[in-house]
Amino acid sequence: MTGSAPRKRPNILMILADDHAAHAVGTYGSVVNTTPRIDEIAEHGRRLDNCFCTNALCTPSRASILTGTYSHVNGATTLETPLDASRPTFVSQLKRAGYRTGIVGKWHLGEGEGHDPQGFDHWEVLRDQGEYFDPQLLSAAGAETVPGYVTDVLTDRALGWLDSLDSDEPWCLLIHHKAPHRWWEPDAAHDGMYADAPLPVPATFDDDGSGRSAAAKRAAMRVAADLNRRDLKTDPPEDLSPDELDLWKYRRYMEDYLACVASVDDNVGRVIDRLRERGEFDDTLLAYTSDQGFFLGDHGWFDKRFMYEESIRMPLLLSYPAAIAPGDPVDRIVTNVDFARTILDAAGVEPADGMQGESFLPTLTGREQPDRDAFYYRYYENDDANHHAPAHYGIRTKRYKLIYFYGDGLGLPGTSGQTYPPEWELYDLAEDPDEVHNVYHHTAYAEIRESLKAQLWQLQHDVGDEPHPSQPVPALLAE
Ligand code: CA
Repeated sequence: MTGSAPRKRPNILMILADDHAAHAVGTYGSVVNTTPRIDEIAEHGRRLDNCFCTNALCTPSRASILTGTYSHVNGATTLETPLDASRPTFVSQLKRAGYRTGIVGKWHLGEGEGHDPQGFDHWEVLRDQGEYFDPQLLSAAGAETVPGYVTDVLTDRALGWLDSLDSDEPWCLLIHHKAPHRWWEPDAAHDGMYADAPLPVPATFDDDGSGRSAAAKRAAMRVAADLNRRDLKTDPPEDLSPDELDLWKYRRYMEDYLACVASVDDNVGRVIDRLRERGEFDDTLLAYTSDQGFFLGDHGWFDKRFMYEESIRMPLLLSYPAAIAPGDPVDRIVTNVDFARTILDAAGVEPADGMQGESFLPTLTGREQPDRDAFYYRYYENDDANHHAPAHYGIRTKRYKLIYFYGDGLGLPGTSGQTYPPEWELYDLAEDPDEVHNVYHHTAYAEIRESLKAQLWQLQHDVGDEPHPSQPVPALLAE
């Protein structure tokens, strides 16, 4: 590097929404809303079109993002498995390298000794899911109830911490919004803003699961049947037909969800504006993302969990004008496990031992990087009380998705003792992007099916995980 001035180390600012589906972000082609301030990040940077979570649930995804490891490594497999907060994270690595570090917002990785945030100079976090109005914030100093709307409050506190910094050392700030998580409670400024919006119904809204496994049919997350009074906030008009009632519920759900998103969008704008005022926008790696996706009436559902596209796809927009030129959307498959190494790579800080995944910074900066053709997914929370989504794992390649529903909670916290007969699903995403035709048993797909089984077996092994005992060794490997 002789002769060239070392680049200033970037600030890191990650805004993590909760359950914000990519298809409710303007730049991803949303047909239900606009998000001009969030989109602005992509306009000055890059949009990643194939960013996926490796376990579509709040706690596990947050643990993977911070630690750069899969659920089976960090142990945060379900909503009831707190993170050992002494594990190294990208934040603790940055702190060791001289960064000032802060987190404001949803933590949801456990509470109390061993589970409160570590590696942060400053932390103010919501208790568990937190409240939309007058949220309680926990910090090293104790608990405090802060008047106001949670998305505004968290932004106020985060920007307040930035303004309190008084030296030139770089900083890392995480703003973890509660919104737009269930129960979708908008503030007065946005409530009702979608009351007259068209809100098109997804093509798969009436999907009855007949082309898929029994596992998918059992799920209790249907807009029509499983949204409750707390979700809907009001009683329906009395004279609706059954179909009209389903659509009324869809609208009620979406109107509130999108109004919560609109407040996030405004607050992302406040953050961008403040970075510009501080003269730090160019030297900050600014990321907007969500811990996983969400079904917005797709397959007739709300919620996430399943390894279907709407659930596993994370929005990810990044800007860092000093080092990343604006450009076309990035097609590369990346996952939440890759975030830690990528951020550390941008900061020029070594990853911790045991961090998995791979930095995708080379792709962002126009350097050569070998392609990635697949990623591994596993959902553990074999929950029989609420959403009835069975435990499963699988592989998604650029074209195909193979899922093994093993239907066994393995005795993990947050799972039920109920088990289900294993089932397979295979989708050809080129022919069936909506994933409504399971082709696992189609003879035309026999060859690709066996090949994917072997690839899944290998990939699972490569990341250090084990198959469920019910799964036979793939034929191609059983020599
Ligand atoms: Ca979430």
